[in-house]
Amino acid sequence: MTGDRGRLLLTPGPTPVPPAVLAALAEPVVHHRTPEFAAVFSEVLGGLRRVFRTENDVLVLTASGTGAFESAFVNLLSPGDRVLAVSAGEFGTRWQKLGAALGVDVEPLDYAWGETPHPDDLRAALAASRADAVTLVHSETSTGVVCDLERLLAVCRETGTLAIVDAVSSLGAVPLETDAWGADVVVTGSQKALMTPPGLAFVSVSERAWARSGAAMLPRFYWDWAALRRAQEKGSTRFTPATSTVVALAASLRLLLEDGLDAAHARHVALGRACRSGLKAMGLDLYSPDEDRSAVLTAALTPEGVDAVELRLALRDRHGITIAGGHGDLVPRLFRIGHIGYVRLEDIVAALTAIEAELAHAGHELQRGAAAGAARAAYEPAAA
Ligand SMILES: *Cc1c(COP(=O)(O)O)cnc(C)c1O
Repeated sequence: MTGDRGRLLLTPGPTPVPPAVLAALAEPVVHHRTPEFAAVFSEVLGGLRRVFRTENDVLVLTASGTGAFESAFVNLLSPGDRVLAVSAGEFGTRWQKLGAALGVDVEPLDYAWGETPHPDDLRAALAASRADAVTLVHSETSTGVVCDLERLLAVCRETGTLAIVDAVSSLGAVPLETDAWGADVVVTGSQKALMTPPGLAFVSVSERAWARSGAAMLPRFYWDWAALRRAQEKGSTRFTPATSTVVALAASLRLLLEDGLDAAHARHVALGRACRSGLKAMGLDLYSPDEDRSAVLTAALTPEGVDAVELRLALRDRHGITIAGGHGDLVPRLFRIGHIGYVRLEDIVAALTAIEAELAHAGHELQRGAAAGAARAAYEPAAA
């Protein structure tokens, strides 16, 4: 699976794109005010609803995930509104900064990076803060932690607090039931588990969130959800969307939904198992949790004396494999392997084999091939 792609992209976004989706990208550009576009757009909206597991409107924005998250803030909040923003890593903190920049009253619920937010803490923080809204990160891509979103959302429902969920790296990779779990707003992007190039972001909006948006006073123009919904009802967007990316997304949603979401989730679990087993077989310490729920990416530490930045560059320059680095104090030791979307076992085996080669090159005693063997043995494609 790697040879046909030459270079292997194993970061937690952007992610590899299947050939059928690349082919769709190469089609002539369509105009966004034509029946042709309306047809593909309608297919995409239907497919997105199925992936989000929702009957709610799903809005399509030409933006990165952060833009879509900003759209949620400006459509739902007024200056001075209080937002409880849960953070256990880079993205949780980003939504705190976003709120501060927009003039809302951000109440942080902070964990050390790598920890998993707990429903009891959320319940206590909601009671203490009486927040107007909560931000939750489903998959904290900086650490590899996937939280128990279902339980956290149940706590939000107890207090009736509007929940805005960052599902940018999780939707399509791990289970997320927008309607059944009661997530008011779910945000994701094209460039992760949806196997499409960067450029589009999506927001599902519940009835309750629509009601709130009518009273929200933060200024908005490009991000105005109500105007966008009116345009979508007529088969297009308000402003020029990334039309070729919409066409590509139609192709990727077809692939995803043909196989089924369950199969995609099972594959991510299996890839996570394979990746963790391979790293452990090399004697490396995992940083992301050693649990099936953390199926989006695997983070690990290099052995003492091996610089993670150098390892990452060696993988890129000598093996054609791009993985991601770490953050803060852990930059010298932490690396992250994404297994999101169009990733197969052999891709993970190739990355593990390259890491093994580089560690051996750095003078570490390793049993060559052990990582690949462990990864293959751990991969149980439950529904493949
Ligand atoms: C990738 C990602 C985002 C969005 O990042 P953009 O670069 O703005 O698309 C947001 N949250 C999480 C958890 C992510 O992994």
